[in-house]
Amino acid sequence: MLESNSPVWDKIVASYRAMLKTVEEVNRMELHFPQFLSHTFSGNEFHIGVKENLQKDWFTQLYAQDLEKAIENAELGTNVKVVFDVVQSDVQVFSSVARPTIEKDVSKPILPGKKMRILPSTLPLQENYTFENFVCGPSNSYAYATATAVAKGLGRTTYNPLFIWGGTGLGKTHLMEAIGHYVMAKKPDSSVCYITAEKFLNEFVNALASSSLSAFRARYRKYDLLLIDDVQFIVGKKNFQEEFFNTICEMLLYNKQVVMTSDVAPKELKLEDRLISRFQQGMVVEIELPSYETRLAIIKSKIKMQSNPHVIDDSILDYIAENIRSHVRAIEGALSRVIAFMDINPDMTLNLEIVKHLLKDVVESETTIKNITPESVIAATAEHYGVSIKDIKGPGRPQAVVLPRQIAMFIACKLTTSSLKSIGDAFERTHTTVYYGSQQMQKRLTVEPELKSEISAILAKLGQKDADIFE
Ligand code: ADP
Ligand code: MG
Repeated sequence: MLESNSPVWDKIVASYRAMLKTVEEVNRMELHFPQFLSHTFSGNEFHIGVKENLQKDWFTQLYAQDLEKAIENAELGTNVKVVFDVVQSDVQVFSSVARPTIEKDVSKPILPGKKMRILPSTLPLQENYTFENFVCGPSNSYAYATATAVAKGLGRTTYNPLFIWGGTGLGKTHLMEAIGHYVMAKKPDSSVCYITAEKFLNEFVNALASSSLSAFRARYRKYDLLLIDDVQFIVGKKNFQEEFFNTICEMLLYNKQVVMTSDVAPKELKLEDRLISRFQQGMVVEIELPSYETRLAIIKSKIKMQSNPHVIDDSILDYIAENIRSHVRAIEGALSRVIAFMDINPDMTLNLEIVKHLLKDVVESETTIKNITPESVIAATAEHYGVSIKDIKGPGRPQAVVLPRQIAMFIACKLTTSSLKSIGDAFERTHTTVYYGSQQMQKRLTVEPELKSEISAILAKLGQKDADIFE
């Protein structure tokens, strides 16, 4: 949509973009604006068409006020009210992205009389990854609302496919499995498949080898709900991509629900445009880093979930929420440590001093991570290899900088809390290039494990001794 041929809209977008302060805000705009279907000035109102009520509510909250300001700044009117309306998706589409060609066969029953609920291929769902156990906050409530809508209206919402993306340990798998749990509990006739993209690829390769590709495809068509975790795994696997998306498109054609998670946005998956546009016809939602309040609520909820909940002083919970910010998995790890200590020392009263001591290394590494920027990673890597920062960032590919550059990309992606976009900026490259470079390094490490000691030396320079970035 940003390349739309509507000069008025282009002006508004440019004016809105100029108001944004953070990369996250720009990313969010780039994600959401292509989902707007139409725009019209009507008197003193500016109407934007969207597909769904949920989108109307959310986009109103997120954008209405700021777009009003943007219209004013662009000198297109004062006191203009921005209104989001639900419209048919075939009205005046001004997105540059190609619109759907696949029609849904809504007349087909979703569940054509299944006997088997869980068919082969599926991995077990984690018992506690339910909606009830998922804590909602501003960082994830849009994703949560969409996921519950998908679960409730299985195959009948327009959020198909649903694409959930965000950093590691932020709850993507939890939310995806929650959809699976809900459907299995409330619609017991439905068949659900939860699978990782990696397992899906392995099955595909096996099917190819045993000439049973048609059976492979037919098997997936049988599911009413297909949950595919970690689709970033397919980046760079060109031959597989096509089959992967043919299978998904076929499911959509049969009105089956597909949900995917990824730790990068769809446009960073290096897919063909037609596939990206197919994704954007569904729903793309991001989970962001939780705020302090959400972190605290998550900690409290994890304590409540215990069979015999421990009583922990608020000051301690506050300390964990305040100091562990990188992702939810780290918060859980910290809490488990505290609880293990209480179990081992039932007679000791837990106080903040003990907790500080218990979590010293976790908090220290969190603090260091906060201070590690893509720039500092580039500098430390350049120093380690005796090359210049300019060479690492430069466009050339002389042999001496190829390895340092790839290593720096790998460390920056693994260790900093910066977005891929800002890592890309630091390397003077696109975020896709940086992500791809990091993936390449990850692969090389399995065949050239000696590189790990090089990386550890650079990590030491960055004051990060025991980072587990090789997983
Ligand atoms: P991801 O798939 O994004 O890497 P996971 O879904 O595996 O992350 O989540 C990591 C851990 O954090 C899980 O144990 C999950 O239950 C927990 N978690 C993440 N977000 C939330 C949340 N909003 N509420 C409760 N638990 C959460
Ligand atoms: Mg996951």
